[in-house]
Amino acid sequence: MIYELSQKFFFEAAHTLHRSIDAAGSKQIHGHTYHAEVTLIGAPDAKSGMLQDLGNVRRHIESIREQLDHHFLDEVPDLGPATLENLCTFIFTKLVARCPQLVAVTVERQASGDKCVLRKERKADAPVSAEAAGPATRTALPA
Ligand SMILES: [Zn+2]
Repeated sequence: MIYELSQKFFFEAAHTLHRSIDAAGSKQIHGHTYHAEVTLIGAPDAKSGMLQDLGNVRRHIESIREQLDHHFLDEVPDLGPATLENLCTFIFTKLVARCPQLVAVTVERQASGDKCVLRKERKADAPVSAEAAGPATRTALPA
């Protein structure tokens, strides 16, 4: 069995963007409320019953959130152009160092209906899916 554990958070921030479409409004400094979700995958520890203690995840998220919330995203180091894609990469890169089970980051601007999901690519030889783990598990179960 594979478990997915998620944690949601939000941050508010300002940015500008240089675009070829809707360029005038995007070039002005403006703000958004960003909703993010991080997803970990794996199996729970036999003793604790937890894949990862959400208290730890929240603590790690908070340190990332502090770098984004009420900041001017154009000036955040390591972010690059403040796009949804780059925000996903930023959050993923910082969080995966502390939560190796991280497999996905979603960043969404609900008011405008924009959303980006960054998923870790699965290696062909890594048995992370239920299908890959299935046959071995099934043979171990009583018929
Ligand atoms: Zn914007």
